Amino acid sequence: MSYPKVELHCHMDGAIPNRLFVKYCREDGLLTPEISDEEWIRDHVMSDTMTLSECMGEFALLTGLLQNEERLEELSFELLKDMYESGSRLVELRFSPQSHANDHMTMEQAVQAVLRGRKKALEVYPDMVCGFLLCMMNLGQDLGTIENNTRTILLAKKYKDQGVVGIDLAGDELATPIENYEPQFDLAKRLGLHYTIHAGESGPASNVAFAISQKGGRIGHGIHAIEDEKVIDELVKNDVLLEISVTSNYFSRCVPSLEEHPIRKLWDKGVMININTDDPGLMGISLKHEYDVIAKHFGFNEKDFILSNLYSARASFCPGKERIIAELTKALHDC
Ligand SMILES: [Zn+2]
Repeated sequence: MSYPKVELHCHMDGAIPNRLFVKYCREDGLLTPEISDEEWIRDHVMSDTMTLSECMGEFALLTGLLQNEERLEELSFELLKDMYESGSRLVELRFSPQSHANDHMTMEQAVQAVLRGRKKALEVYPDMVCGFLLCMMNLGQDLGTIENNTRTILLAKKYKDQGVVGIDLAGDELATPIENYEPQFDLAKRLGLHYTIHAGESGPASNVAFAISQKGGRIGHGIHAIEDEKVIDELVKNDVLLEISVTSNYFSRCVPSLEEHPIRKLWDKGVMININTDDPGLMGISLKHEYDVIAKHFGFNEKDFILSNLYSARASFCPGKERIIAELTKALHDC
């Protein structure tokens, strides 16, 4: 049975499709003529677990490719196109404007570029609902980062009605205690912005507890909630949706093995779950791959998937999601 898919957690830089990855690397002279596309992809796209520093190295390469407006606009359009063509109808993409600002492009110009790509995609696929989250970065509490994170919030406010649907805290969850970001979330609340927080991905259950206390309604990953029954109860009681990415969690060693991923246990305890790719380009996966893995290893059936998409649609920050909610409600009824 077909039903609209809802993907809420996908990082633009980690999602560069192979065709654009090799194109950009050739244009920038990183990929020289004696190396084939296939070799380059084999060396840079993950097929197994990686250490954090290896992951960071790959991200630096990917972000480095996205330092001009043309590529950000192109990637925005191409990602939305790929997602639409693979059955996603309600999509949130995210990126960190400060990671793309340079001498030739401001954070605001980076935001405008991805929004141009979104506008083009909506002209071609008018029945898609999509928006962007702007990521603050946890890179340590130096003044430059704090200033850029505040700028990110203000940009989200400025472009709120033009396709930016909220903010996120991404980066290295363990770089600075996430409680330090409370002033930024207070500002987001005052400005009436939606927000989600990367918490309990590489960090402990206490980070998930903090994220729940911020009342954003959603948490990026949150899988380490499994270590604390009380935190799980709070997730359920507060109707918090976890944006989960099974392969990404396994490849980045946030779980000891694929089989030990807690998705099934969390689902059985009543936690609402959204299924995502996180970084499909870097991980060499698709959303379909994730559904296949979750069906095969964790026994999710059609009804589980529809219900998970319905929870996700309800928790989406995108305006115009009601039609998708109605379609999923009908699909659940017919299942
Ligand atoms: Zn993420």
